[in-house]
Amino acid sequence: MRTGFVNIFGRPNAGKSTLLNALVGEKLAIVSPKVQTTRHRIKAILTTADYQIIFSDTPGIIEPQYKLHERMMHAVKNSLEDADVAVLLVDAGDNPEDADGVFTALKLRVPAIVVLNKTDAVKPDRVKELEAFFSAKPYASVVMEVSALKGTGVPELLAAVIERLPEGEPYFPGDEITDLPTKFFVGELVREKIYQLYAEEIPYHTAVVVQEFKEKSDLIKIRAEIVVQRETQKGILLGEGGQKIKALGIAARKDIEAFLGSKIFLELFVKVRPKWRDNDLLLKEYGYE
Ligand code: GDP
Ligand code: MG
Repeated sequence: MRTGFVNIFGRPNAGKSTLLNALVGEKLAIVSPKVQTTRHRIKAILTTADYQIIFSDTPGIIEPQYKLHERMMHAVKNSLEDADVAVLLVDAGDNPEDADGVFTALKLRVPAIVVLNKTDAVKPDRVKELEAFFSAKPYASVVMEVSALKGTGVPELLAAVIERLPEGEPYFPGDEITDLPTKFFVGELVREKIYQLYAEEIPYHTAVVVQEFKEKSDLIKIRAEIVVQRETQKGILLGEGGQKIKALGIAARKDIEAFLGSKIFLELFVKVRPKWRDNDLLLKEYGYE
């Protein structure tokens, strides 16, 4: 049996969630809080008779002028190096120099699988170019091409991952995988919606903290705080007459209800905490190690 941790890293929108779905299938295995480790944000576990793969990811990339960025770079480097297999995911439509800059800055000691995603959306020549570009990089042990959306290249990627896993016993028996690390995942679902609904800049400036999670008889009451640095960002999050945050609440509620299998009452608050990104204590409070 082969078993191990696989960490997928890529900028927001590179297709990490889509790739996970393609690898694991629609039904993501949700893990309990006790198996969350500081370095691995476990997203899904794929167990068969022959292998167990624990998929995790790391937070995205943000601008270097912030202290948060440095710490995140450390967190990313650590989690990638702690993993048995590191996957660096690249959107084939993105500028490869940008991705290369980040991957190089990580100074990985263990070469990773570079995966070009969204190959369905670019010309074949472009894919060839990117493959040549990344193949020459020291952090790439191999370059693979997929379309996470269409499923192309996904079985090959899975095979390449399994090939690189060490032999060993499974880390998690089947029944340990189903408890809900609810607060964590609820916060993640809200964050995911922020990424989807707001322009590029905003998500980088926000943190989501689930303040209250109360199970009532017929619904679950959830209160989440969205933390931003400036009043202007708060204004953007709220939108005119609160329209934007209302849309965010509706979208998030839908996903959270589907995720929890329960009706929820979701309250979202936006709080301005200037410079939270540069404050070590706040960074800890918001879960960045
Ligand atoms: P994440 O932020 O890295 O988790 O990215 P997502 O998985 O949420 O994907 C971001 C967007 O890219 C979504 O609209 C996906 O449908 C789209 N996407 C992901 N993979 C592919 C792909 O292989 N081809 C195309 N055309 N779109 C993709
Ligand atoms: Mg995602």
